[in-house]
Amino acid sequence: MEAIKNRDRSKFLATIEFFPEEGKYHFDGHRNCGVSLSPEETLKLGGKCPVCSKPLTIGVLNRVHKLADRPNGYVDEKKVPYKSLIPLDEIIAEAYGVGTSSKKVKEEYERIVSVVAPELEILMDKSEAELFSAIDSKIAEGIMKVRRGEVEIAPGYDGEYGKIKIFKEERVNSLF
Ligand SMILES: [Zn+2]
Repeated sequence: MEAIKNRDRSKFLATIEFFPEEGKYHFDGHRNCGVSLSPEETLKLGGKCPVCSKPLTIGVLNRVHKLADRPNGYVDEKKVPYKSLIPLDEIIAEAYGVGTSSKKVKEEYERIVSVVAPELEILMDKSEAELFSAIDSKIAEGIMKVRRGEVEIAPGYDGEYGKIKIFKEERVNSLF
């Protein structure tokens, strides 16, 4: 608690977070109209849906912009760094190209956390070599990509969860 209060950088090393874009109400939009918009785009449209003309469902990022009293990109000198993680079952699901609730994902998740290491250790601490020797190489690659921040997330909006793309290039190539 002291470390958090005093922002003592020798003790308060970082926070561990998910990607806020994954949330169901990050961007603005209309789910039924298939419309997803950034706060800037919403402003240009006067808050109205370009498909049905009704008021858009406003997301969290829009509220952040409204409350902001400093320009985008401003970094406080006492800023504590953060690490963004994607839950292991979502990485497995993306690697296999199936949903997180599928049996295949659940079984592999259980196997990894019971045989290899606890989830946070897998996501953050295990070396690349350790990961590749103990886990399916596509999943291991996904974990390394998340660590390097090489992920794309289509932000969630109007009750729709954000969609993660870890293996974007491979997927695009497989279409041709
Ligand atoms: Zn609409």
